[in-house]
Amino acid sequence: MIAEQITFYNNQLPEEVKLVAVSKTKPVEDLMEAYNAGQRIFGENKIQEMAEKWEQMPKDIEWHMIGHVQTNKVKYMAPFVSLIHAVDSLKLLKEINKHGKNNERIISCLLQIKIASEDSKFGLSQEDAKKILTSEIFNELTHVKVVGLMGMATFTDDQSQITSEFKTLKNCFDTFKKEHSNIKELSMGMSGDYQLAIKEGSTMVRIGSAIFGARNYNK
Ligand SMILES: *Cc1c(COP(=O)(O)O)cnc(C)c1O
Repeated sequence: MIAEQITFYNNQLPEEVKLVAVSKTKPVEDLMEAYNAGQRIFGENKIQEMAEKWEQMPKDIEWHMIGHVQTNKVKYMAPFVSLIHAVDSLKLLKEINKHGKNNERIISCLLQIKIASEDSKFGLSQEDAKKILTSEIFNELTHVKVVGLMGMATFTDDQSQITSEFKTLKNCFDTFKKEHSNIKELSMGMSGDYQLAIKEGSTMVRIGSAIFGARNYNK
């Protein structure tokens, strides 16, 4: 089932769009089934859980932190994380930089832009993201690299609203891309809206429940 889904998405997604298999709450056996079907990028939203899975699994996996990051936990993922999707402050970038330096790594990040109308979604305004990218402090950070943007659309059945939020993010991405040569990735789209996201220019989709099945948070 999981292996079939990995194959399905590999066939379905355009070549330039990367699949992040969102494996949060799922056991290592499930991740290994995806791994054995060829999947090498996994997304988690809890640092502790990601670190435990990293220890147990093959070392050619790219681990993506897709959840909100608390500054005091950055150290646990700094040795191995491949991409941090949801950076939403200069303070957090400074912390990631510090731990990148300690581990002699340059850690790649995406800035999360708030596009949803819901209050609950984290993220920066385009203006605040611009302030960060053009700030002197940011430009002195040698062990962190902002390689793109990430966003989450409103959880709704209204396809035109989702499309319009993805368009907003794509415009923002195009604007930053012109001025910052490192900006290449646009992480948008989940199980329910990845097709709309790809149509609007996503380079990276984060798909969880459609691959691994519904999550049970009460276990
Ligand atoms: C859980 C999660 C996903 C995956 O959601 P599905 O609807 O299961 O595909 C994608 N992005 C983020 C940030 C998430 O937290």
